[in-house]
Amino acid sequence: MQVKILSAKFDIKDAYKLNVAKQHGAYGQLKKLFDMEPADVVELVKASGLRGRGGAGFLCGLKWSFLPKGVDKPVYLTVNSDESEPATFKDRQILQKDPHLLIEGIIITCYAIGCHDAYIYIRGEYNKQTMMLQNALDEAYAAGYLGQQAGGGGNDFRLDVTIHRGAGAYICGEETALIESIEGKRGQPRSKPPFPAVVGLFGCPTIINNVQTLASLPYIIEHGVEGYRKLGTEKSPGTHLFGISGHVEKPGVYELPLGVPLKKVIEEVAGGVWKGRKLKAVIPGGSSTPILTPDQVETVNLDYESLAEHGSMMGSGGIVVIDETVCMVRLLANLIDFYHHESCGQCTPCREGLGWMNKIVYEIERGVAKPEDIDLLVEIADNIEGKTVCVLSAACAMPTRSYVKAFRAEFEKHLEMGRCPFE
Ligand code: SF4
Repeated sequence: MQVKILSAKFDIKDAYKLNVAKQHGAYGQLKKLFDMEPADVVELVKASGLRGRGGAGFLCGLKWSFLPKGVDKPVYLTVNSDESEPATFKDRQILQKDPHLLIEGIIITCYAIGCHDAYIYIRGEYNKQTMMLQNALDEAYAAGYLGQQAGGGGNDFRLDVTIHRGAGAYICGEETALIESIEGKRGQPRSKPPFPAVVGLFGCPTIINNVQTLASLPYIIEHGVEGYRKLGTEKSPGTHLFGISGHVEKPGVYELPLGVPLKKVIEEVAGGVWKGRKLKAVIPGGSSTPILTPDQVETVNLDYESLAEHGSMMGSGGIVVIDETVCMVRLLANLIDFYHHESCGQCTPCREGLGWMNKIVYEIERGVAKPEDIDLLVEIADNIEGKTVCVLSAACAMPTRSYVKAFRAEFEKHLEMGRCPFE
């Protein structure tokens, strides 16, 4: 079931080094790239159906085509390497095992959109990955893949790439907060519109793409639309790096074609639920995605459409498998605590609402809340979602609703017993 496209060099010793990466195809698509017109590259990526792998799943080529034409301002690319969604650890693998794949993807993107200055925004906690990426950038400059004549073939195309380190705020993974942070301001999301493609970094047109999205591009240039669309489903083509964690025998990062059955992935790829225990639930795409019950796991496939049909989302592809010993109220309390802590505080519904939810869910967990507080928790979630500048409030509201809906009896049991039944 596993495929090796993005992860093709993950098992090759020292593939993070340029000389090794080159022996295995790194930068091999640049000649073909520079023989194409930039507009044709945009059309190719559009036709490939590549969707953003950061969470929203927006079509990559379509996003590029939103850049205004004929504007007398520089165009910027910002690479989102913040990877701050809990349970998400896939981009980290690319950064430390095959950083030249990302750099090649950046060159492809910048050529397509007419960008000469790209910024990689990397989360503050990624010390090792930052050092490895900087070493790779230095190697790419020395070899002429970046700089005045980027691409290594004497092309008249300047490209400079700069790493910008975050300071550990979850919200800086939101694209406009990320822009604010690069500009040296407090990392708070901006109201949209205007969207970054029109008014982004330093007030200029800006494309923001996730690491994995960009790392998919060399394969698309090499194999074309047909080659890429051979993998995955019609609406969710290609492969995805899924980070599987939680209660499985073999946690890890696995590259799989989109559309594979989740149940099969858990059993055959991740070795099944650990210790012979029963499956209780699955978080399919990072902590903000609605939870799936075992019944749903029976029928859901890992693609954007199937997950939506089952009331959840692809998100970041961070799958968490949860066994029968877990208290779902405690788990939800942990999540709400996280989102409350990470609220940037500029919207009242998010700042105050998440605090209120946090207080209520811990009271339920300790068994000291009133019975009507279960509905109140959902009511607050309903009321904060969609009424804030960014989707952090929704990222907390969506799982909250799903946990209460799927495991309401467990919430009620806490109140009946006056304590957590799992203690
Ligand atoms: Fe900040 Fe929350 Fe408002 Fe987003 S929703 S801008 S995190 S206060």
